Amino acid sequence: MKNSVSWLGEARRIALLLVFAGLLGWMMGKAVLFVALTLLALQLYWLLQLRRIQGWLRSPETDAPEGVGIWGDIFDQIYSIQRRNLEAHTRLQSTVDYLHDSLASMRDGAVMLDKNGAIEWSNEAAETLLGLRYPADKGQGILNLVRAPEFHQYFLDADFSEPLHLEVNSVPQRNLRIDTSCFGAGDRLMFVRDVTKIIRLEQMRRDFVGNVSHELRTPLTVISGYLGTMLAVQDTIDVRFRKPLQQMEQQAQRMESLLKDLLWLSRLENLEFSEKDQLVDVAGLLQELAVEIRQAYPTRDIELDLETDYKVRGEHRELYSAVSNLVQNALKYSSESSPVRISWRREGDDYLLAVIDQGVGIEASHLPRLTERFYRVDDSRSSATGGTGLGLAIVKHIAAGHNAELRIESVVGLGSKFILVFSPET
Ligand code: ATP
Ligand code: MG
Repeated sequence: MKNSVSWLGEARRIALLLVFAGLLGWMMGKAVLFVALTLLALQLYWLLQLRRIQGWLRSPETDAPEGVGIWGDIFDQIYSIQRRNLEAHTRLQSTVDYLHDSLASMRDGAVMLDKNGAIEWSNEAAETLLGLRYPADKGQGILNLVRAPEFHQYFLDADFSEPLHLEVNSVPQRNLRIDTSCFGAGDRLMFVRDVTKIIRLEQMRRDFVGNVSHELRTPLTVISGYLGTMLAVQDTIDVRFRKPLQQMEQQAQRMESLLKDLLWLSRLENLEFSEKDQLVDVAGLLQELAVEIRQAYPTRDIELDLETDYKVRGEHRELYSAVSNLVQNALKYSSESSPVRISWRREGDDYLLAVIDQGVGIEASHLPRLTERFYRVDDSRSSATGGTGLGLAIVKHIAAGHNAELRIESVVGLGSKFILVFSPET
């Protein structure tokens, strides 16, 4: 609206000027000449203003030119557009600087790569961790600078759903965890974290548990031995000591099975990611296990349902231990009269090994923590059933070592299903 008023005003001013020039010329008998000269002068003035705009737009840092009428309005508008742009630019630049500064000051390495894997930017930590120097390495392909074969594989596979754990033979030796995310048109942002300490601590914890369990076995064997000997001649022992001795022997046995489980767990942890080269006949393994379980629990109903003879790459002993733990749980947490079913079948691309009971079931709130070491749903039940809470931790480790997933479905009062899902690699 303001523009149109301004346009009208300008048109009015020009019309007035021309009428005034016409009148003046008419009085002097040269009306046409006067109007033509006025028009020429106007044209020259406009040309001059256009030149000023052009000059100003070429070097916007100079002051805005002054002008009257419509020209003044045009100069003002261009000036305010320029100022808004400048403000937006300053704001953006300060955001970019802020982000850059925060990435640069991080203790984790940060590397930005374009879609061809060339380095666009990297921070100081990336120099310490990966040896990338910025700006010297800008534009270089990251694969030329980080030589580890695992890194090449990870980068070329371009599956960034899981982080890469990399052992770098620098001095000192480091363990790195690399997370990558994609953004924009195929650009990538890579975060590199030094996890050497965490890995070392984890290894120390494993070694400690393994060593302590191992060291405790000898004294425990001695104690159990003496207890056995004493109980063998319990008739000759003072009657007051018989019960305590029996309880001591029970607890010693419990400790033995606990140590056995802990040692087995620490062995599994150390071997979790080792190559498995056996092909295990799961159907055969389950038949073998069923025979053993039926012998140990002659009154229980064990159903075996084998629908496939698919063989799994893995270790027979470990898989046997996993299923045996699941079946023992199923028997332990269900009533004498209810059956326990073990099935091995195919579902789509997956192969499912399920152990199904009609026992007490587990409340949903316990499911996420069930596979933690020593986690037991109900401690009051533990004294009755004598478990230690290591069984499912063992199953979880074995599943992970076999690229299998442990699924648990359970309804309180109706029973539970523990399923090992094997997804063969395509
Ligand atoms: P152990 O180390 O001797 O196996 P545990 O059986 O108590 O001891 P886990 O096998 O790890 O330990 O099981 C953890 C807990 O999960 C159990 O204490 C039990 O409460 C619950 N649980 C496991 N399997 C079942 C099941 N089939 N039905 C109901 N609860 C179960
Ligand atoms: Mg158990």
